[in-house]
Amino acid sequence: MAKPETTVELTQQIKASARELGFDLVGCAPADPFAREQELILEDVRRGYFSGMSWITPERVKLACDPEALLPGAQSIVGLGMAYAYPDVQQETPSPPAPGGSGGSGPPTKTQGRGEGGRPLRGRVARYAWGHDYHDIIRPKLVALGRRLTELAGPETRNRVFVDTGPLVDRAAAVHAGLGFNGKNTCVLTGPHGSYVFLSAILTTVALQPDPMLSKDCGSCTACIDACPTDALLGPERLDANRCIAYLTIEHRGSIPRELRPKIGNWVFGCDICQEVCPWNRARPRGVHPEFAPEGGAGEALDLAEVLSLDVDGFRARFRGTPLTRPKRAGLLRNAAVAAGNLGDPAAIPALLGALQDPEPVVREHAAWALQQLGPLPADVLAAMKGVQEHETDPAVRAELDQAVVRGWP
Ligand code: SF4
Ligand code: SF4
Repeated sequence: MAKPETTVELTQQIKASARELGFDLVGCAPADPFAREQELILEDVRRGYFSGMSWITPERVKLACDPEALLPGAQSIVGLGMAYAYPDVQQETPSPPAPGGSGGSGPPTKTQGRGEGGRPLRGRVARYAWGHDYHDIIRPKLVALGRRLTELAGPETRNRVFVDTGPLVDRAAAVHAGLGFNGKNTCVLTGPHGSYVFLSAILTTVALQPDPMLSKDCGSCTACIDACPTDALLGPERLDANRCIAYLTIEHRGSIPRELRPKIGNWVFGCDICQEVCPWNRARPRGVHPEFAPEGGAGEALDLAEVLSLDVDGFRARFRGTPLTRPKRAGLLRNAAVAAGNLGDPAAIPALLGALQDPEPVVREHAAWALQQLGPLPADVLAAMKGVQEHETDPAVRAELDQAVVRGWP
């Protein structure tokens, strides 16, 4: 391909290279500060909406909204998107069974840990995490595109790539580059792929032809705000991350606030509710990139009894190369316990009793909570819980087991 002679030609060639690399969306913006976004995020920090994420400080927000500070001499942003949605194979939502425990104690067997009709008790995984870890897929593509920029624009070119883990606000980069607009659910809504898009960006010292920002908005729709089970969406683009299931099940370490546990349903990693109800996601997902297919990763749902039985090596082997390693073993088993409690199916009792012996206190605590949701429990289960309580030293686990006493110890 001939060397570009104008900014327009260079931009066209970079966009063509991005598409060849597999990006579905590409646009360009000047590397101006994200003034509006900075104001919004700083206000959220002031209100304490990110208080569980100590790394989100005002200084870090200002840096994340300032392309020039992230790459001195930056002139342009290349905003990029890869669609990740795959069609659902099967969906299950929690349906509480009739009260009356019948699970019995003892280690899980092949049929225990299975719900109605012998199906495994399933915990849902957010769509973005069904397949292989997107960082591993997207970063090499960004590096290749940066190399291409340097080839085309000259060796003095400097680039910096961002895929989620870097400090740049990727949503702002995408909106400024015309890939989509800000939804009230805080996602970027793109025309062709809704919000089911991995966003990434390159900052570059090269001048590129900017794309216009989209002049769209959500209008009078409030479907996402109305549907959020934890009331984490407080208004348009206003998210209290501390209440969001995605934060609680992925980033949050330690105990999940008790009052929020029942609202988590059977989400075991992330939450898609505010995206599932969005009219911009109404088109049936097509499964564009095989790398993100559920067969290559954790899949759309996890067998809760299996997760609760994983030791450290088993956890590593099961989730290596997927985003599900992020909450670490303790976090994922904690989430599986909460989901099992919310499913309300006594078939989970053996796996939860097993989790009461887990070396991680946070797992034992949430298993004890989950067992309470399955009551009234059979006498042998209560006796097993009492046996655990006698030796339990962790105050939070003891407190949960005490709650079981309040509910009717034998
Ligand atoms: Fe609410 Fe779930 Fe959306 Fe978080 S991800 S804002 S919990 S609907
Ligand atoms: Fe906007 Fe409605 Fe989608 Fe929410 S559900 S992001 S309000 S279009």
